[in-house]
Parts: sequence; structure tokens; C-alpha cells
Amino acid sequence: MKRQNLHCHTTYDDGADSPEMMIFAAMKAGLSGLGISLHCPLKGEEDWTCASADELRFIDEMHRLRELFAGHLDIWCGLEYDMDAGRRSVPPYDYIIGSCHLLSGIPLDNDPETAAQLIAYHGGETKAAQLYYERLSAMAAMPEISIVGHFDLPTKFDERVGLYNTASPAYREAAFAAMEKLNAAGKIFEINSGAISRGWRTTPYPSEELLRHLSALGGRVCISSDAHAAAHIDCAFDQCEALARACGFRELWHFNGTDFAPVAL
Ligand SMILES: [Zn+2]
Ligand SMILES: [Zn+2]
Repeated sequence: MKRQNLHCHTTYDDGADSPEMMIFAAMKAGLSGLGISLHCPLKGEEDWTCASADELRFIDEMHRLRELFAGHLDIWCGLEYDMDAGRRSVPPYDYIIGSCHLLSGIPLDNDPETAAQLIAYHGGETKAAQLYYERLSAMAAMPEISIVGHFDLPTKFDERVGLYNTASPAYREAAFAAMEKLNAAGKIFEINSGAISRGWRTTPYPSEELLRHLSALGGRVCISSDAHAAAHIDCAFDQCEALARACGFRELWHFNGTDFAPVAL
């Protein structure tokens, strides 16, 4: 199976490397396709999102690179949309990943201290988790979003500093309900190794329990690295594939330029 990665970042947002560096890394890793997914412009969050003024420049650059590398690597221009951006018309991206990085303007995944403040602000980990999954599940009504980004992002720091009780009935109920709603809306869930490359987790998002639930629902998955540096372009893909198989998935959903199609795993 040829691999592809539809989720990574560059110097157009909070990535460390240029699009060319990510493309070279993808070719070296033997990927057949690479989608660079821009962090959607978001007012007040310019330190990690793309400046509005640069968005069209990014799209033009991606189209230039697609032509330049044609025949060597399929290159796509993606968007990592954030739920805080609100509904709006978006420029012509090839596909859209939908993510939720903030609750009440507080980042979920910056560092454990901020994550703990977010929980305190929202009245405890159960309420924070419920709010997060409710917010995420609103993407079910957004047909332009194809992929759910890092589904259980709030758990990013749990291996090191346990913040969420993912075994509690309330947490599981909230996560399962969001997963069921998003799956029923036809969303593809990414198995995302981004927190592995950043040293926070030893396993990808979503958790094995959630992936098993998704598999039982007949859900669809893809594998992505959410790389913020060229060195991480295919981080832990072996592990992600093994986990997908162990959870019962027999195929991954790959982008073909216009749509998603199953590829045997
Ligand atoms: Zn993200
Ligand atoms: Zn990302």
C-alpha cells in the first residue's frame, strides 16, 4: 500500500519548514501523496494560524508546487479549519480537516498548565470534555468538512499529567456520542501521530477504545502525522497502521484529488 499524509504544517502557519522541505521529506519517505493543511486564519490566534493576507498566497504556492512536482508526488492544498472560525465561505481548498483547538478562547493543546486552567475555567474535566465533544460534533452539519482532526485532542497530556478521566461514564458517553454523530454524517477520522512526534504521547489520537468503537460503527479512517517539521512527515505510520488493523479496520481512506476512496490496509 502506498502511503499518503493529508495533515501537516509549514512556515505559512506554525510549522518549522517550508512547503518544499515537507515535499522533499514526503518523497524521501516514499509517500505517494502529500496534503499540506493550513491552519485556518483566526483572529487573535496569529501566532499559530495563517495570516489572512497570506491565505491566497499559500494556495497559489501550492498550485505552483503541484505543477512543479507533477509525476513525482501528488500534492494537495488542504485546510485545517477551526470551529472558532465560524461558518464562512472558504477559498477553494482540495479538502478540509475540521478541528477544535480552543474552548472559550483557551487553547486545549498548548501545554499542560493551560490545559489545566481550561478545565478549571469550565468547572471540571467532565464539563470541559462534554463541551469539547459537543463543539466538535457540530461539524456534522458542515458538509464541506471531510476529516475530523485529532478527535480526542483534550487527552494530549494525559500520559504525563492525567487531566481527563477517559474511563468515566460521562467522558465515554460524550466522546462516543460525538463519534457516532460525526460518523453518521460521513466524516473520516484521522489516526493522528502529532502528539507522538512532539513527545507527549506514545499512541496516536484517537485512543484505542475510541478506534474500536468507530470500527464497530463501520467508520472510516485515514492516517496522518500532523507534522510541524519535515523530520516528522510520516511519524509512527507503522504504529498507526498496526493499531488500525488491531481495531478491525481493513482499509484506509485515501484522497485522490477529488474524492476519498478505500485502499486495502
Ligand atoms: Zn490541529
Ligand atoms: Zn494540524
